[in-house]
Amino acid sequence: MAIRTGEQYRQSLQDGRRLFVDGERVDDVTAHPAFQGVLSTLGALYDAQADPELAGVLTTTDADSGEVHSTTLLEAQDHDDVLARLRCDRLRTDLTYGMMGRLPDFMNAYLLDIRSSLLFVGKQAEADRLGEYIQRLRREDLAVTHTLVDPQSDRSTQDAPPEALHVVERRDGGIVVSGARLLSTLAPVANEVFVGPYVPRRPGQEEYALVFTLPLATEGLSIVCRQAYDRGDGRFDTPLSSRFDESDAILVFDEVFVPEERVVVAGDLDAYNGIVRNAVGYGPLQGAARSTAKLRFLAGLATVAARTTGRAGTPRYQEEIGEVVGRLNVAEGLLDGIALDLSRRIANRRAGADAVAPGPGEPEVESRVGISALTFFFPEAIAKAVEVLRLVAGSGAIAMTEGELRNDEIGHLIEKYVHGPDVPAERRLQVMRMVWDMTCSPFAARQALYERYYTGDPIIGRVLFFSSPKTGEAERMAERLLADGLRG
Ligand SMILES: Cc1cc2nc3c(=O)[nH]c(=O)nc-3n(C[C@H](O)[C@H](O)[C@H](O)COP(=O)(O)OP(=O)(O)OC[C@H]3O[C@@H](n4cnc5c(N)ncnc54)[C@H](O)[C@@H]3O)c2cc1C
Repeated sequence: MAIRTGEQYRQSLQDGRRLFVDGERVDDVTAHPAFQGVLSTLGALYDAQADPELAGVLTTTDADSGEVHSTTLLEAQDHDDVLARLRCDRLRTDLTYGMMGRLPDFMNAYLLDIRSSLLFVGKQAEADRLGEYIQRLRREDLAVTHTLVDPQSDRSTQDAPPEALHVVERRDGGIVVSGARLLSTLAPVANEVFVGPYVPRRPGQEEYALVFTLPLATEGLSIVCRQAYDRGDGRFDTPLSSRFDESDAILVFDEVFVPEERVVVAGDLDAYNGIVRNAVGYGPLQGAARSTAKLRFLAGLATVAARTTGRAGTPRYQEEIGEVVGRLNVAEGLLDGIALDLSRRIANRRAGADAVAPGPGEPEVESRVGISALTFFFPEAIAKAVEVLRLVAGSGAIAMTEGELRNDEIGHLIEKYVHGPDVPAERRLQVMRMVWDMTCSPFAARQALYERYYTGDPIIGRVLFFSSPKTGEAERMAERLLADGLRG
């Protein structure tokens, strides 16, 4: 069963997981109203893999087993493979309008990245264990979520607080873990969870240095979701919340047994700390494709909104939307650049890390285009695009609901007074409800928070660039001219 249907995916979630939503225990996530939208969105993506027009992009054939699996799990050997991945990432994020940061695609890419890191730091056995897991995902087409960050119980230190997930017992055949992790987007509608590293662990923190996978339906594991944003208000009034609310959850592990075949790292600080900074870069390619799709959608919605109010001819609006379109062009260029950068890194690693010495006119140190774009370009570009959408719609974003439009008493007056230039009230309202869901709703507020934090703590992220080899390359350039000045 290398490729699942939407229905198979849906049924696979009826597994007895301990799920809490809006203060209640939910026995069957597939029957809960808040998840119907996201389940049908993800289900459609599963079904699309069998669509004859899309299957060539969304799926690929495993070279060893000959089985068909998702292209999101393709381990690229060369630039052609990277381009195949890029086409797939683009298509799937386009089908979801860039609204779902944690499509299973992200984790599929990230797991390949982690395997590449483990190989890079010489952890062959761990990389093999993860490789077997990835092979299983190819066979079973599972949706995986992840959780990396310790609870916020004490941010005065980067050390794990006692509440963080840690080993409480080592037994024959596995480990027992307790504690919490945040935040696990997609958890209620994913099959499995990957627990991985974020901040490096110091000596003495070995019991907190954990990398493993588990089914979400595991004894002792609770999925505690934030409030659901799809409140059943329908596609017209909440066009985004009702389709793309991927949810976020805190995962609480209460003496959970993790069998040894599921454990990738348990206490090896070199392996744990080596993972974060040595990835080959599949994750950033997927993340940039998703962000580019969102920018395109935002540019499009701002244009539609401007036409709806008759502002599309106003230079001030054209300038603002033009800037978003310009950034969209930059994003498309970045995507190509990230793909090239990934291909180069794959080629270098295949040849041995030091094999490719820079020649004259080439950068001395490899660039981290993808993670730089995710850290510095996309969050600001998307925030700016949302701001432009707010400006374009003005008070229109405070839109009435479909209920008023269909109401016998007031509907005809809405049609008479609340339309646009040659734009009937129904169309204007439909556009403005979408603007509201993108700029003002709880879904919109969460999207803004997500864009700011999904790559981790923005400060830690930026500081890491300062300590990267690229800083040395830049410093050497400045020193060259300083030294030249001394020679007179
Ligand atoms: C919507 C959403 C979805 C998410 N999904 C996932 C997911 O699927 N998987 C996952 O593992 N994680 C996920 N996360 C968690 C994310 O990785 C964290 O939010 C991120 O690492 C920041 O950690 P924190 O939220 O605990 O903030 P904190 O660490 O508490 O930091 C809060 C703020 O303080 C700032 N700060 C930090 N140090 C300093 C300092 N010295 N001086 C001043 N300010 C400082 C930070 O930059 C940040 O702005 C998600 C987060 C959000 C909001």
